[in-house]
Amino acid sequence: MRFRHLILLPLLLSVSASPFVHAQAQRPTLAVVGGRILDGYGGPPVENGVILVSGERIVSVGRLGDVVIPPGTPTVDANGMTVMPGLIDMHVHLHILGHGDYKRWDELYGTRDATLVMPIAAKQLLMAGVTTARDLGARLDDILSVKRRIAAGEIPGPRLFVSGPFIQHATYEAYEKDFRWGVTGAEDARQKVQRIIDAGVDFIKLIDQDQMTTDEVRAVVETAHKNGRPVVAHAHRMAEIRIGLDHGVDGFEHTGLGTAPGYPEDILQRLRERNSALYWTPTISPLFTLYESGTVFPERLDDPSWREGMPADMADEIRRSLRAIPQLPYYALFPSRLPILPTKFRQLRETGVRTMIGTDAGIPAMFHGDATWREMVKWRELGVPPMEIIQSATLWPARFLKAEDRIGVLAAGRYADIILVRGDPLTDMTVMRDVRAVIQGGKRIR
Ligand SMILES: [Zn+2]
Repeated sequence: MRFRHLILLPLLLSVSASPFVHAQAQRPTLAVVGGRILDGYGGPPVENGVILVSGERIVSVGRLGDVVIPPGTPTVDANGMTVMPGLIDMHVHLHILGHGDYKRWDELYGTRDATLVMPIAAKQLLMAGVTTARDLGARLDDILSVKRRIAAGEIPGPRLFVSGPFIQHATYEAYEKDFRWGVTGAEDARQKVQRIIDAGVDFIKLIDQDQMTTDEVRAVVETAHKNGRPVVAHAHRMAEIRIGLDHGVDGFEHTGLGTAPGYPEDILQRLRERNSALYWTPTISPLFTLYESGTVFPERLDDPSWREGMPADMADEIRRSLRAIPQLPYYALFPSRLPILPTKFRQLRETGVRTMIGTDAGIPAMFHGDATWREMVKWRELGVPPMEIIQSATLWPARFLKAEDRIGVLAAGRYADIILVRGDPLTDMTVMRDVRAVIQGGKRIR
């Protein structure tokens, strides 16, 4: 930490001493001034901090007084705020918006994923401080086109890392065939994985691998790894986890809602062996949020904030679909199943696997503008130290995404993806719901 502060002044001096073109490129275009900076590395906060931005990148981070702010630099006042790297939500779905019935949703809106639905989700995420997100399952062309349009600055949204369709065993409902690609045999698996990689996906999402043959699973993982793409796999069932581990997947999703009171010892032992080389996005909060919306505080569903950016008829349709939450077939199991989740989460963390913040935003009652802070707060309730939670939504995801040189921390050379929250998440994680400013690639979005 200290080392980086000390190098700031020489860095600025060397910039001003360098040739004109270089100095011009480094001229600050924005200064975030006066807040407490948590840079994502987990060290002590920088009080009264300054972040200088030039164009889309950060040029320096340090203490007010140590970092010189050239006169005339536009500033964002961060007094009273915590200044953090933009959040990275590692499990979202842009093609669904919290509706309670997937099939009906798809009938109504499935042909307008790229033109209508995904841009709403993307903007809600960004406004909530999520400057990067990993999308785990969508129609290939739609998600790739939205990713490109966000990258080109045509529509607002998080930087996207996408899987395209799920790769799985070939039984599902007809309407799902575009975002679930079933494989039949190893050669078919190889071809389909290669096809989506060639199209431009960033990683492969494997589900129901316990229903596939060994040859099929091997073909999926080998093809992905040969192309330098990680594989993340569902972990709802113990058999899914074992098979995923057998084949060397890079990460797991979810903690499952099975009846087992916890992970068995054979799995825990293998997780200890993989340790922090294995990533896990447990998505703890969605079931609690669904239960809250059904029983604890249904009024949440009348909060107008989740309707942001939606046509009124779409929002009304979503609201109507959620009236029946307590009648959902699995809902009656919640009171007995929810207490299992904290146990599994604690077990996972004790093995040393690298857990990351992800929300399943888009599934019933999980709204994109209201998801990420909920997962962070739930982790805090379950005893995770606040700094570790913040790193699980910034540095660790950036590392999984092999993008630590661009995102996930506040340091010179990284994209200026910066959020300001009012108050102190280190003492009260619920302040994460109160994001006051969002800067992405050096541009103030909110
Ligand atoms: Zn999901």
